[in-house]
Amino acid sequence: MKALVLERQRVLRLRDIDIEETLTPGDVRIAVKAVGICGSDLHYYTDGRVGPFVVEAPLVLGHEGAGTVLEVGDEVEHLAVGDNVCMEPGIPDWRSRAARIGRYNLDESVTFWATPPVHGCLRETVVHPADLTYRLPEDMTLAEGALIEPLAVGVHAAARAGITPGDIAVVTGAGTIGIMTALAALAGGCARVIISDILQAKLDLAASLGAITPVNVSTDDLTHAVMDMTGDWGADIVFEASGSARAAEAAFGPLRPGGTVVFVGMPNEPVSFDLVAMQAKEPTIETVFRYANVYERSLELVASGQVDIWPVVTDTFAFDDAVAAFDFAAEGSETSVKVQIEL
Ligand SMILES: [Zn+2]
Repeated sequence: MKALVLERQRVLRLRDIDIEETLTPGDVRIAVKAVGICGSDLHYYTDGRVGPFVVEAPLVLGHEGAGTVLEVGDEVEHLAVGDNVCMEPGIPDWRSRAARIGRYNLDESVTFWATPPVHGCLRETVVHPADLTYRLPEDMTLAEGALIEPLAVGVHAAARAGITPGDIAVVTGAGTIGIMTALAALAGGCARVIISDILQAKLDLAASLGAITPVNVSTDDLTHAVMDMTGDWGADIVFEASGSARAAEAAFGPLRPGGTVVFVGMPNEPVSFDLVAMQAKEPTIETVFRYANVYERSLELVASGQVDIWPVVTDTFAFDDAVAAFDFAAEGSETSVKVQIEL
């Protein structure tokens, strides 16, 4: 089948690849129709690695996928041929201790699409467990379906934050994950979200999607801005979603005493904190690693109209132009948020 293959660092090719996939009774075979390009895909392309995961053999990229069911295994009851679906890309061992306590995202044996040596979904078809495949609501597009994966990160972050209705949240970073986190925080009960970035176009996009106040940190200081907006008290919750080590270190600045910081982004460099300054606020600190048990919730939020995710897709490329799509995304554009590939 045709696939987008990362041969090695910096070398991407759209070519035929043999992937043996047998359909077991609990699986579905899916024609892939839409795939979003994620920051991790770009890191594998430009750096050949993400943290401890190194590309040592040709790897099919992509993990934010949606498609149409082509074939169902004998035991699959909730899906039928022709259904439009999105796929949760991490397959845990359901017998693992992490899975048994409900935190299957933390199972160390999880196989996750486009994480070496596991091939991703930028290919014509995939076989996937039916219990990690979700039917899209009637009026949802496949492009929206491919956005459920990043929305799931935001929903998981909002859940970890333990939001109380009326909370004021700060989200640092207005990329896809920052915007998804802001939308999930509002849907989860926040009265308002203050979002920061250095790119005005991304801030404008975020601000158009709800009760979201932009702060451009290329000209304004975030802590000052938040203190101004909260009567010198600070935000109840700060979500760090930029993945910048500096932003992570500054995350406690705009926080109110006794508030909660959620680290969503994953910085490349070590992060250090002024522990005593942090202690003086007695914050609750949460972290997220991907997500667990939030795909149905994420689909419901979109289906009910509570969150509008479609505007986040700023650029769409055909599968034949997949290499160009990656070059465009890797180059980085001031106005581009999510780049998707249509198959
Ligand atoms: Zn992703």
